Amino acid sequence: MAEPSNFIEQIVESDLAEQKIGSVKTRFPPEPNGYLHIGHAKSMFVNFGTAQKFGGTCNLFFDDTNPSKEKTEFVDAIRKDILWLGYQWEKEVYASDFFDIIYEYALKLIREGKAYVCDLSPEEIKNTRGTLTEAGTESPYRNRSPEENERLFGEMREGKYADGEKCLRAKIDMASPNMNLRDPVIYRILRATHHRTGDKWCVYPMYDYAHPICDYLQGVTHSLCTLEFEDHRPLYDWVGYSLGFVQKPSQIEFARLNLTNLVMSKRYLKKLVEEHSVHGWDDPRMPTLAGLRNRGIPAEAIRDFCARIGVAKANSECEISYFEAVVREYLNAHAPRAMAVVEPLKLTLTNYEGSEEIDFEINQLDPTAGTRKVRFGKTLYIERSDFSLDPPPKYHRLKIGACARLKNAYIVRCDEAVTDADGNVTEIKCTYFPESRSGADTSGIKAKGVLHWVNAETCVDAALVQYDHLLRDAEFSGQDFSERINLDSEHIFAAKAEPYLKEACEGTAFQLMRTGYYKTCTRNDKLCLSEIVSLKDNFNK
Ligand code: ATP
Ligand code: MG
Repeated sequence: MAEPSNFIEQIVESDLAEQKIGSVKTRFPPEPNGYLHIGHAKSMFVNFGTAQKFGGTCNLFFDDTNPSKEKTEFVDAIRKDILWLGYQWEKEVYASDFFDIIYEYALKLIREGKAYVCDLSPEEIKNTRGTLTEAGTESPYRNRSPEENERLFGEMREGKYADGEKCLRAKIDMASPNMNLRDPVIYRILRATHHRTGDKWCVYPMYDYAHPICDYLQGVTHSLCTLEFEDHRPLYDWVGYSLGFVQKPSQIEFARLNLTNLVMSKRYLKKLVEEHSVHGWDDPRMPTLAGLRNRGIPAEAIRDFCARIGVAKANSECEISYFEAVVREYLNAHAPRAMAVVEPLKLTLTNYEGSEEIDFEINQLDPTAGTRKVRFGKTLYIERSDFSLDPPPKYHRLKIGACARLKNAYIVRCDEAVTDADGNVTEIKCTYFPESRSGADTSGIKAKGVLHWVNAETCVDAALVQYDHLLRDAEFSGQDFSERINLDSEHIFAAKAEPYLKEACEGTAFQLMRTGYYKTCTRNDKLCLSEIVSLKDNFNK
């Protein structure tokens, strides 16, 4: 049997070994009220991953008990994102598939005196719940007879009462130290069109009551969820026990994924989209899976990240730089190399004529990747910051009279800078050394700096986009979300790129040498290089 690598897998392994279960069955339970985010990737890793590892299966379970917020658009997006991340569900199931049975189970509870119709308003119910140190007050409707409750519940369903006028409550214990057991509401009246059942129902079950039933009906053995449900477990168990379930699923909680500089709650993500602070759910700065995909982050890197952070019982916050380091590591191993200049400065070789092809390693870390040809010529572009008229000490790039190597080509010496009327450098003139060609350098000239470049005659114009985090750093973490949001987080540069980048398939991830990891796309019919992750590793190991 597979080796368990976290506490959930240990439980599953021992349940299998003790034959408490025949095989493991889990479910991934999103509510279709928004797009999935990277936190959900962890939940998928746990749910799909555990089932896969122990030869079981995982369902995709849409928790659609809250019709006013749920939409088919979200259902479709969720399906797409799960498949993209590389998981496959066994069955696609909706809580709404079970509305009839869930209703029948409520009748069973009523007949057995375990649930009652309550006329208190939501406000009154809240006010009579008590506190952590004081017991709640019993509802005056608590002791209605099962017959009366059944009649009233039937009338609720038939639409005889207004929204909120009555509800169905489980009859448990108003003095329980666990607030969730103080006669929780299990059905409410709500006139809202459901994305699947339309207007068939005007009563909807509450999550805490519906979820254990849905798990049971799917044959779920382990209902894996995040820590905020820990206090709800006694209610989860009460439902299973009161309805006489034979093979009761066990609920196990694990810590949520929290990442610095990212907002993960759907409520806030929705706000960003609705207020047009971002371009949409799939904006490359969004932590949604659609956003990460659009950013160019490979699904494998996300799965790898989930595996590496592990599954624990204690909440913690993970540095965004760790996530970036995992992505960078993946791209470093897999992405082909190319050159683009973000802020171009013209460089002319006064003693060079014509052009030639030079060899360029596609990925020096991947021996199977091979080489390609890059055309070198008389007029080139280099990075404006790679030349200085007034260099600081130990400046190894180009300055008047100094040498540097042009990547994979020749060593050049800068002789002259051409300036405009305002004193801005518009071009530099250099001498190249024919015997210094990379791989066959007999020149004996020392050049510490190695600069990337593009050929001015063959290069293409590109919009290069860089991103900052959507939320300002941890030092702002105590502040309100709206104060932390960084609206100025997208920066566009007019860059010059190798033609190779334009020929590549759209969406290919490249390492732009000395610049970062970028994916290719098209914006307004022009090549766009969109930042995936920077080159520099600022993760503090
Ligand atoms: P949000 O608060 O972002 O809206 P949610 O919990 O309401 O998230 P659901 O659609 O209900 O989102 O979540 C589906 C599953 O994913 C749940 O089991 C939930 O516990 C889990 N999940 C949501 N966010 C995270 C997270 N940050 N880390 C791990 N699991 C998560
Ligand atoms: Mg939720």
